[in-house]
Amino acid sequence: METNQAFNLICKTKSLPTPSAFAMDLAYHCYDQHASQETCSQLIVGNPKFATDLLRYVNSPLVGTAPGESIALALTTLGQETIANIAIIFSLLGQYRYGKCPHFDYQRFWQKSLARGAAARALAIQQRNDPQQFFTYGVLSTIGDLALASAFPEEYGHLLIKNFHPGKTEQKEKQLFGISTTDLTCNLLASWHLPKPLIRALRVPAYQANGEPFCRTAAKTRKILTLANHIAKICLFELPLADTFLTVEQQAEEQSLPVEQFGPFFDQLVASWQAACEFFEVPTLHCPNYHQIKTMNDVSLEVTPEKQETLTILAADDEPITLLCLEKMLSAEHRALILAKNGAEALKLALEHRPQVLITDWLMPGLSGIDLCKILRKTSVTQHMYIIMLTSNESDDELVQAFDAGADDYIIKPFTPKVLQARIASGERLIRSQQTISNDREVIRRYADKLASANRKLQNMAMTDFLTGLPNRRSALQRLRNLVSEVQRYGEPLSCLMIDIDHFKQINDTYGHDRGDAVLRQLTRLLEEKARSYDMVSRWGGEEFLVISARSGAADSCQLAERLRRSVENHEIRISDDLQIRLTISIGVATWRPDFHNAGELIKNADQALYQAKAGGRNRVEIALTSLPDPHPPR
Ligand code: GH3
Ligand code: MG
Ligand code: MG
Repeated sequence: METNQAFNLICKTKSLPTPSAFAMDLAYHCYDQHASQETCSQLIVGNPKFATDLLRYVNSPLVGTAPGESIALALTTLGQETIANIAIIFSLLGQYRYGKCPHFDYQRFWQKSLARGAAARALAIQQRNDPQQFFTYGVLSTIGDLALASAFPEEYGHLLIKNFHPGKTEQKEKQLFGISTTDLTCNLLASWHLPKPLIRALRVPAYQANGEPFCRTAAKTRKILTLANHIAKICLFELPLADTFLTVEQQAEEQSLPVEQFGPFFDQLVASWQAACEFFEVPTLHCPNYHQIKTMNDVSLEVTPEKQETLTILAADDEPITLLCLEKMLSAEHRALILAKNGAEALKLALEHRPQVLITDWLMPGLSGIDLCKILRKTSVTQHMYIIMLTSNESDDELVQAFDAGADDYIIKPFTPKVLQARIASGERLIRSQQTISNDREVIRRYADKLASANRKLQNMAMTDFLTGLPNRRSALQRLRNLVSEVQRYGEPLSCLMIDIDHFKQINDTYGHDRGDAVLRQLTRLLEEKARSYDMVSRWGGEEFLVISARSGAADSCQLAERLRRSVENHEIRISDDLQIRLTISIGVATWRPDFHNAGELIKNADQALYQAKAGGRNRVEIALTSLPDPHPPR
């Protein structure tokens, strides 16, 4: 059947998604009649609901222009054709958030469509195309999926759960419905008067046989939409992701978006996708940043589909003729068949190959089918096997005995191929769904592990200073707060040293910023070396360091400060092979006092002492006044 013929037939069923008469009318005027701006404006104003939605849209972060209140402004900002697309999207989203197809996730469909829209918009910005137009192209470019779900809820649902790879799905769609979702999208868009460039882009292959693009604009649009679709898969975490990452990065590179820029690009478009979801009231999905998703994605996490594909069946019967029949009837491409001539051999082969299905005769010399069944059920590696018992006796007692022994099903001998296939198919369904559940569980477990480790890494990164590798200010503050609560409870001494390099700006000015960085790193090593093991040296910011000295009173910490100051003064810092410099530091020391309330007060005191050290001529240690022992303690 021809695609158009199939489409006309489906149209007659009146089950396809249909935008409102207003949206179609607007599209008709915009695209087919090339109506004037005034006509469009009148049409829009005539529909107050849409006029309001449109103004909301133009003033939302999705468009990001200066706020405006007029339809005329919306028309100039978006262009009348994009407005027609928007009207179609509003109308479809209003009507098709739910539906009858049991295996079609309507919510996810819209989430993905909006993700594709956001990605197409971001790519269009990069490539100097019309971003607003591309947003609508992205959203509408797979509307055929929704259409098949509406027109053939049951049949399309069955196709979805089979989860074929994309090429095969298209073939199956043509076979079952006479049309693929892509063709259906094109036909639908055309019937709604939507733009030819989009339809052309979806329909034509990007390249001719000689490698030349068919039509440059169509080929370019198609490339953007294809990449946008892959990006949307990442946004929705569609497994397996490993190949998607490769494709996305490669296609992005081809579209002048280098790999190192892709992460920030993705993170930004995710934010705009979530804004779109919020705007259209589609539940947003949490999406980690690109770096996190990539870290979590490990090829080894994904369960290879081949593993699921082959079904291993063990058939055991002592009658050669039955065994032969079983072999004939069960042979199929996706099955591996193992044959056993008796119970003992079946047991051995079952333990060795661990088949998913066992078909066993009841009466066999030596180990009977019933005993075999009992043993396998008690053995950990074979206990989940699907077991079908062959029996010539249909009496209730026998059947109960078989089920008691652990059989899942039975077949009465003699059997026809039809019955055998039906019983196997039912077992296969059960096994596949169990397999899917256990695979999913495994994938989730591994993702959880990866996520935990990625989070640990991020946590570490968040607490460490990038340049020096020292704990950063946040980390220092956390430690200080912990120590303060201990000090408040147990009354132990606590001090801190605020260190600032003297005239560091001159080092940058003289030798350059990179060498300034190297100086900071060398000074870090020196401070770490000279401090005591229980002192925490952290980078407070710029050329300032904070040393937290637990269990140290004023005398100890002044001694420590003096030691650090002298070490730096006497140390030669190598700027390059033939250039060494010396520098000095100033230090403010503060010690905890019972009248302090929090860590901030201690730091403030250290800062004030540092200020005094600078004012007093630099290269010196000053102690905060409040830290000095009170000369006249109250009686
Ligand atoms: P003072 O003795 O009064 O502290 O003089 P100073 O020059 O050290 O102080 P000032 O605060 O004027 O300048 C600090 C300089 O430290 C300015 C800034 O460029 C430099 N700096 C801050 N952070 C870094 C960094 O990460 N790397 C490098 N190379 N320089 C930094
Ligand atoms: Mg300084
Ligand atoms: Mg400073």
